[in-house]
Amino acid sequence: MEEERFTQTDMERGRLFFAGPVDFVMGAVSLDTLPGADRPEVAFAGRSNVGKSSLVNALTGRKTLARTSNTPGRTQELNYFSIGREMQQDAYMVDLPGYGYAKIERKKVHAWTRLVKDYLRGRPNLRRIMLLIDSRHGLKENDREIMTMLDEAAVNYQIVLTKLDKLKVADREKILKKTQDDAKKYIACHPVVLATSSEKGFGIPELRAELCQTLAF
Ligand code: GDP
Repeated sequence: MEEERFTQTDMERGRLFFAGPVDFVMGAVSLDTLPGADRPEVAFAGRSNVGKSSLVNALTGRKTLARTSNTPGRTQELNYFSIGREMQQDAYMVDLPGYGYAKIERKKVHAWTRLVKDYLRGRPNLRRIMLLIDSRHGLKENDREIMTMLDEAAVNYQIVLTKLDKLKVADREKILKKTQDDAKKYIACHPVVLATSSEKGFGIPELRAELCQTLAF
């Protein structure tokens, strides 16, 4: 694992940043209603049911900030959260709609791609997309399509494995290594893959530190 990547100071900074107020700003259904691009932002993307809401909640220590649900593919909004106000380091976290569920998969990927492409074009303040991948499943075809699209759009992104607790300890290192090898094949993909469990808290301090650095705080 990446024990050496962050110092205690980095992790403490991350902890403090996420311990302050986090507010839901808006759910934007169209791009002309996004908040002004006046502060840095990071966005979270992933297949439906990947554990995105749970991760946003774990990061911020709130149980119900982002809605967790077992109805995959329901949210089709870009959900904006403001963070860091108390430290006078305002940033946005954006929960992007999930993609790739069941029968309507291809149509959804297209709709998602169009929305996200437009979003990327219009967001000069976007620092990185955190691309969530379920550690039990690894990269699926539609994840790879999204990665290719992000490569083409030259958007910085980083893979975050979720639900690590669902894997046997012996398998965790394997999937991390495999995903890391895969990540290196994508030009705009950050070479470091983070591994997390929202349920057990694995990798959450490291993810907070990574996000703080990404936002240049
Ligand atoms: P979203 O659709 O990507 O927002 O996914 P959710 O956060 O709603 O999670 C989908 C399902 O996975 C829910 O049943 C969660 O309880 C479960 N889940 C999410 N994160 C974890 C985790 O770290 N560990 C375990 N065991 N289950 C998780």
